[in-house]
Amino acid sequence: MATSIILAKNGFEVTVFEKNSHSGGRCGQILRDGHRFDIGATILLMPSIYRTVFESLGLNFDECFDLKDLSTIYKLYFGNGEQFTFSKDDAVMKPQLEAMEPGSFSKYKAYIETGYKFFRDSYENLLSRNFYTLFEFTTPGNMLMLIRLKTYLKHQTFIRKFFKNSNLQKVFTFQNIYVGQSPLKAPALFSMLPATELTEGALFPIGGMHRVAEKLESEAREAGVKFVFNKVVGKIETDRNCAKQLICTDGTTAQSDLIVVNADLPYAYRKLLPDRKLSAKLENKTYSCSAIVFHWGLSKAYPQFEHHSIFLSDEYHKSLDAIFNQHSLSQNPCFYIHAPVRTDSTAAPVNEDSVSVIVPVGHVNEKSPQDWEELKKLARTEVLKRLKDEGFNDLEQHIKFEICYTPMAWKSIFNVARGSVFGSIGHNIMQMGYFRPHNRHDRYRNLYFVGGSTHPGNGVPLVLLSAKLTSERIIKENS
Ligand SMILES: Cc1cc2nc3c(=O)[nH]c(=O)nc-3n(C[C@H](O)[C@H](O)[C@H](O)COP(=O)(O)OP(=O)(O)OC[C@H]3O[C@@H](n4cnc5c(N)ncnc54)[C@H](O)[C@@H]3O)c2cc1C
Repeated sequence: MATSIILAKNGFEVTVFEKNSHSGGRCGQILRDGHRFDIGATILLMPSIYRTVFESLGLNFDECFDLKDLSTIYKLYFGNGEQFTFSKDDAVMKPQLEAMEPGSFSKYKAYIETGYKFFRDSYENLLSRNFYTLFEFTTPGNMLMLIRLKTYLKHQTFIRKFFKNSNLQKVFTFQNIYVGQSPLKAPALFSMLPATELTEGALFPIGGMHRVAEKLESEAREAGVKFVFNKVVGKIETDRNCAKQLICTDGTTAQSDLIVVNADLPYAYRKLLPDRKLSAKLENKTYSCSAIVFHWGLSKAYPQFEHHSIFLSDEYHKSLDAIFNQHSLSQNPCFYIHAPVRTDSTAAPVNEDSVSVIVPVGHVNEKSPQDWEELKKLARTEVLKRLKDEGFNDLEQHIKFEICYTPMAWKSIFNVARGSVFGSIGHNIMQMGYFRPHNRHDRYRNLYFVGGSTHPGNGVPLVLLSAKLTSERIIKENS
């Protein structure tokens, strides 16, 4: 939708075809019996990127939403009875850090400063620019940047230079899961995730993350963009080096001079385009993990939840191994809970609660299919057991209704390849920058891509940035 706004404002006539009945995709919402849930995205990461992209749409981000700055970014539960309040406030962080590891507060400050430098550096030199050719990407300057960003070093190795306490190491590395990668394997560059949270803060738009999508849709309509919902594109018809038209599953067609695909890129290559070889190449890439998500309408309020809560497993390595190596789920998994009511009372009826539980899990493995019903049962049982252990004794009795998304649901509802909702193409350095699937098709030169699986990457801020980059490229190449 951000792409459609920029193009419409630059004189293009734009129509959006959406398979579902509403906009937003993985940033959509569910409304039921007075309860509201964000379907996917719940954490407004990297607000500076939202501000930049909104500015390019002619909008002031901070004026578009009623934004609440969360004083506690999240509460972490380690599984051994200990907790950690993750906050921008040094007065909150210092005593906790020093109690866990004397002398760690100054290390923490150094870690966050370095991580935020990584963010600014990678934003300026890697994330916020188009790479049109390999030569443009592999300049000596960029190679130095990749060394500066410590892309050769694992985040897990990097964090050990700052903290010895294994729980503190987890506090500042688990965020790699936001982009679907293992905290044990991700490059040190991703220390930018906790660093941006602790530097730029954690905002929440009243009304939920879907407000961002709603705002974009209304702005697009104002700019003259047409929307056609419940329209599934089944094929993109091509000739030698040109995309000709969309053929929808209901038989209707739409001709266009230029096509932008926002559906997940590996899915589009596999299902909508003819080249089997190109699609097969994408199959060999590393994919991010997936998630089993439970949305629970609760008949009781649980004020003990923070807005965001992270429940880490005390069998951390085993739980990550199950997700990233076995494409499955272990007993005693890590999970995250979004409970927006304490910030935004409109998310549930009075004295009730709306919580979403996100359990990271392996992506769909076509070669050795998983039993998702069994894994869903395991996730539910383990989450409820852990919540009981953490003092949420009667929560199960107060579940009025449950809506669950498994990796197969992500695959069928939003056409996300392998249900890899945090990617789907993973974010190792060989799949970033010029090495990430390009935002213009190499053969069909009027066919562009936008979204999480093209440059620069996944998560709402980077997806918005991809809209800015792809639009800039379209305007440059089609003026
Ligand atoms: C559980 C979960 C938690 C997340 N948490 C966060 C978070 O806290 N913060 C954050 O920033 N990000 C988060 N994300 C990631 C974020 O939601 C995604 O990065 C982002 O929404 C992806 O946007 P997109 O436009 O690339 O893809 P999508 O949102 O998937 O949009 C693609 C659209 O294309 C449509 N489509 C697909 N195929 C067709 C077709 N054939 N014809 C017509 N239409 C089609 C789909 O219906 C969809 O509307 C989370 C995601 C999930 C699932």
